[in-house]
Amino acid sequence: MKILVVEDSPTVRHSLKMSLVPANHTVDFAENGEAALVYLGVNSVDLILMDVEMSGMNGFELARLYRHLHGDDWVPIIFLSGNADDEHILEGIKAGGDAYLNKEASPIHLMAQITAMERIAKMRHQLHSSNRKIEMLLQAAPDGIISISERGIIQSINSAMERISGYRSDELMESPFTLLLPESLRGDYQQDFWRYIRGEEVKLLGMTMELEGQRKNGESYPIELSIGEVNEPDTHLFMVILRDITERKQAGEKLEQAQQELLEANVRLEQLTILDGLTGIANRRYFDISMEREFGVAKRENTTLGLIMCDIDLFKTYNDTLGHVAGDECIKQVAEAIQNSVRRPADVAARYGGEEFAIILPRTALSGALAMAKNIQEAIHEKNIPCATAEVDDRVTVSLGVCCINPEGGDTIPDFIKLADKALYQAKENGRNRIEYVSDKRKGDDDEVAASEGLTM
Ligand SMILES: [Mg+2]
Repeated sequence: MKILVVEDSPTVRHSLKMSLVPANHTVDFAENGEAALVYLGVNSVDLILMDVEMSGMNGFELARLYRHLHGDDWVPIIFLSGNADDEHILEGIKAGGDAYLNKEASPIHLMAQITAMERIAKMRHQLHSSNRKIEMLLQAAPDGIISISERGIIQSINSAMERISGYRSDELMESPFTLLLPESLRGDYQQDFWRYIRGEEVKLLGMTMELEGQRKNGESYPIELSIGEVNEPDTHLFMVILRDITERKQAGEKLEQAQQELLEANVRLEQLTILDGLTGIANRRYFDISMEREFGVAKRENTTLGLIMCDIDLFKTYNDTLGHVAGDECIKQVAEAIQNSVRRPADVAARYGGEEFAIILPRTALSGALAMAKNIQEAIHEKNIPCATAEVDDRVTVSLGVCCINPEGGDTIPDFIKLADKALYQAKENGRNRIEYVSDKRKGDDDEVAASEGLTM
């Protein structure tokens, strides 16, 4: 141990040195109280052996002053005195001494006392070192950690808390913990805390709360808060862990945004695969998918499925005369007229290929399908697209073939399409710019038009 001997007698100093050094202690000397204070101001020791009877400041006065000046830093003091009165011993212990030895006591007695003090000093060191470790861990923690009293007053804070909140340690110490929250929330949390302290049923511990915090500069930020409690006979404290989750929130928002963008990109991609590039209406692929689906539905539900095949009249002449650019424009105009005529959500108007279009009409009887075909014909007429030759009309026209069936066991989609094509062919044969149809006679078709004018399956 490192021992300071405060002793005004050279003889006693010498005799103590003779006892202590051989026992592997390091010994320094001060000849009076003033010198001891100067020495202790710059050196730390493990033990002080203090003479009581000294000129100037006596041992008791020195002990009181030393304890006053170095209150936190406890170093054991053993008094050495020629006075063995009980009163005197008591005064020494009260002045801040830890043991009291008569100068007449044997060196063995002295060494025994020193050994006892050494043991206490060792325990003190261990305690100090583990406190330091805890303190270092607290300071190294990435989250803000504060302890608060049962009055809700901050008792300690770590450096992360200073960094996160923007407050200095001395601004937070002894302040209510609600200082870390926005003013609008302070009342509620203070209330909850009081209610908990009063023993009311309030969910305060053992969970993580996400709420809004407020930094010293007034900035709001998202925090995660969890509270633990130390409830011992001599200590009632709460430990509050506060995590700044600004970055996590922002990352979450970015991820959400990326997901949304991906979703939109997928929708666009999906549209690209089902829409015709030139006209923007459904393409052949989507027609095939829709036909597959609706044909199945009609079969299962025993409903009538309508199909219109529609072809621009004399399109080859149009293209040859006016060129491909004008031809494309013509196709776009016709597609637009068809799309605008098809209003029911389940109906599908598609570009079937080249200048040919197909319209699927679920749950539609022949009269309805014919009405739709008529609408399309009129809509294209109204578009008034200039034509290349006045052979049929003074503007671009279409021929339409209509077919409606109630699909049965052996019916196939190609057969169905073939029937509509047959009607379309008939419309071309009969002079173009007209509507022809095929009706399903097997069902005793509901439409009189079918019986009177249509082709028969
Ligand atoms: Mg003396």
